[in-house]
Amino acid sequence: MDAHTPPQASHDILDCLVVGAGFSGLNVAIALQRSGRRYLVLEQAHDLGGTWRDNQYPGAACDVPSHLYSLSQVPNPLWSRLYAPQAEIYQYMHYCVDTQGIRSALRFGVSVAEARWHSDKNCWAVASTDGKVFYATSLVIATGALSRPRMPGIEGLDQFKGPVIHSARWPKDYSLAGKRVGVIGTGASAIQIVPVIAGEVQSLTLFQRTPAWILPRGDRAITEATQQRYQYHPQQMRRHRWRLYWGHEWRAFAFTRAPGLLAQAEKQALKHMQRQVPDAALRQRLVPSYRIGCKRILLSDDFYPALSLPQVQLVDQAVVRASANGLVSADGREHALDVVIAATGFQVNDVQTPFEVYGRGSQSLNHVWKDSGPQAYLGTVVHGFPNMFLMTGPNTGLGHNSMLYVIEAQTAFVMSALLTLEKTRAVAAFDVKAEVQQHYNQRLQQRMQRTVWNTGGCKSWYLSADGKNRTLWPDFTFKLRRKLAQFDWRAFEAIET
Ligand code: NAP
Repeated sequence: MDAHTPPQASHDILDCLVVGAGFSGLNVAIALQRSGRRYLVLEQAHDLGGTWRDNQYPGAACDVPSHLYSLSQVPNPLWSRLYAPQAEIYQYMHYCVDTQGIRSALRFGVSVAEARWHSDKNCWAVASTDGKVFYATSLVIATGALSRPRMPGIEGLDQFKGPVIHSARWPKDYSLAGKRVGVIGTGASAIQIVPVIAGEVQSLTLFQRTPAWILPRGDRAITEATQQRYQYHPQQMRRHRWRLYWGHEWRAFAFTRAPGLLAQAEKQALKHMQRQVPDAALRQRLVPSYRIGCKRILLSDDFYPALSLPQVQLVDQAVVRASANGLVSADGREHALDVVIAATGFQVNDVQTPFEVYGRGSQSLNHVWKDSGPQAYLGTVVHGFPNMFLMTGPNTGLGHNSMLYVIEAQTAFVMSALLTLEKTRAVAAFDVKAEVQQHYNQRLQQRMQRTVWNTGGCKSWYLSADGKNRTLWPDFTFKLRRKLAQFDWRAFEAIET
């Protein structure tokens, strides 16, 4: 049997299949579980956690405060720090799974080969690479926006005789002690890695193509007294979360409507640099030439001090090629290395789903998006792909607040859609109208014109090759949440049973 074969009986058809067991897949699973629906979560790895399972590099931590970066339905009064380290977030995800009773619905080691809409049965058939087929009325693709590492396309890197490690594929128990290490990149991953490994290595050469704007992090341990207070007075924890949310949310105004206001944040970042980098010549090489916020604003208290260590060298040149012995920078210098660390980010704009998705008329999602670029309605549903939801889909990313807020808003939409569908008995499926999706994206791209991401003078992973931003949400997050709160038939075509 393959995905082309229709299901034999209706009891073989689940209410919902979720692909991916990261935060978004798990949050949908919790909602499905609470509503008593029949569902499964397919996960290609042998463990849950998504990005928080994969990113185990030294220093990995969240740059959104812990009490905001957690699920509102599974509050955790025991966060140990203002900004939780990777291991604690990963543990928290396991805690969510166990306390919400969804573990038995997780199927690990199931790598999806394709998902196909069956018009005759109005259901999805999802085939795994080992030949199993799962059927469900609805499909949630929760495979994550930042899940496929991007290696730097550096000529000759395969000739380098040492290991080349991507930040999101850090080998377990690997020691860098006494090694000459090259780090490529100065993004959110690199600035967390560099201070931690700098004390261990023989030498660290940091290749900076573009300097980053960095603000103070102010991380600290959360005291036991506070933990207890949150445990016994959960309303205080909720109030704290609420304050954190608004403390981040107001920035959307400057990011999306008035980038000029961000000049104040640039001053703060420059002061931070001045305090932490005594060498004026080094400081000059670290000053970005674009508006703060155009790329993700980084938070760190230990990255700049690490750059002043005698064993750390900053190369503010692009890497042009690799040799057997190391990396060659644009000025022609060869830097001898034992290990290369590629903190070079993720494939975001190229391929959208890690497997083929065939909708109505057997059209493939990647084919549909080939010319138009990734587009959806509310970042969640796509015309031609009935009863399908994309978690963290096109234009749902954030540069200023917690992605879990968006994930929760999308989950509410999934549940509202499923409920509406079940209540409308003569209807088997919904499909967002093409003109609604088109109009939505036109307006969204218009709004994008004035954002700091499009006007700030930088080249970031937010933008695709044609300069369009199909990654971020260009407004306040509460507005997206409001739009996602209720499934509205007016935007959809009903497919009858
Ligand atoms: P990134 O932001 O895409 O940064 C990649 C870095 O590698 C950039 O400095 C880039 O330089 C550089 N680079 C890429 N290819 C290169 C090449 N061929 N030669 C030289 N330099 C090259 O990747 P990331 O740091 O992994 O972060 C990705 C995203 O993950 C973040 O934006 C964030 O959303 C998420 N993240 C979050 C956290 C957290 O704390 N929550 C932590 C880590 C990551 P250019 O700037 O010149 O392109």
